[in-house]
Amino acid sequence: MPGAAYVTLVTNDDYATGAAALIRSLRLTGTEADIVVMHTVAVAGDRLEQLERLGGTLQQVDLLPTSDAFNRAHARDVLHKVAPFDKGDKPPLHTPLDNFTKLRLWELARYDAVAFIDADAIALQNCDRLFRYPEFCAAPNVYETMGDFHRMNSGIFTARPDLATFETMLTRLDTPGAFWRRTDQTFLQRFFPDWHGLPVYYNMLQYVWFNLPRLWHWPSIRIVHYQYEKPWADPHPKSEILRPVIDLWHRIAEGGEMPDLSTLPRPGAEDENDGPDEA
Ligand code: UDP
Ligand code: MN
Repeated sequence: MPGAAYVTLVTNDDYATGAAALIRSLRLTGTEADIVVMHTVAVAGDRLEQLERLGGTLQQVDLLPTSDAFNRAHARDVLHKVAPFDKGDKPPLHTPLDNFTKLRLWELARYDAVAFIDADAIALQNCDRLFRYPEFCAAPNVYETMGDFHRMNSGIFTARPDLATFETMLTRLDTPGAFWRRTDQTFLQRFFPDWHGLPVYYNMLQYVWFNLPRLWHWPSIRIVHYQYEKPWADPHPKSEILRPVIDLWHRIAEGGEMPDLSTLPRPGAEDENDGPDEA
């Protein structure tokens, strides 16, 4: 589709490993859209070359020109203390401030429509119809209980690049005393209070596998998103319980073909949310 692109973000070599698997997976779905990797200078040259060879289009970006006060408030040790991650672990290289760099996709004005996808995700089926969805669509941040459908997850979303939008975002982002608990996610949910919901299958969060197993329906899943612990950090505290989901990531990352989704193992755990009152 001309004028359309998938966009991801990579600010260190760790996430370049994720982006490589993401690009491979997208190409396996048959998409011909550009796959833009916004990256900072911190990423090694050979990693960037690999991403290009896989079919990515490199776009070097700077971190946002945020104030010292903003940077201090969102520094890794400060944010992890004020707003701890008590549901799972973040990788050691996860730098909360870097997340805001996602907003730079609104500067990619050469594209009419983009779909942003976190580097810790893989596509299982073609997602090109996302380019026909309006700004701003995102899936619910559901991975623990059905009560979370009102929350938005900013790992996958649709947008219309526009310099004026980007400028407005910068002004609203970095105001005196600003603290965005979950970084770009909290900001985007505030900036687009009437966000449209994508089907949850466009952003199937890996914890659904063990927390809400009845929601896990392989043939419906478009994108799997490995939030918290990363599949390239395998083994990690959740890797045994997530084994089939992580194995799929390795298969794609290591050059394998996409399996027939209907043949993949189903989650085995009991679903506590599957009571009669939820029927
Ligand atoms: N990211 C990055 N470097 C960082 C942190 C984040 O490049 O230090 C990018 C990367 O694309 C990543 C996304 O921002 O997938 C959001 O972070 P992450 O996926 O770790 O958050 P989670 O999905 O676990 O909430
Ligand atoms: Mn993510």
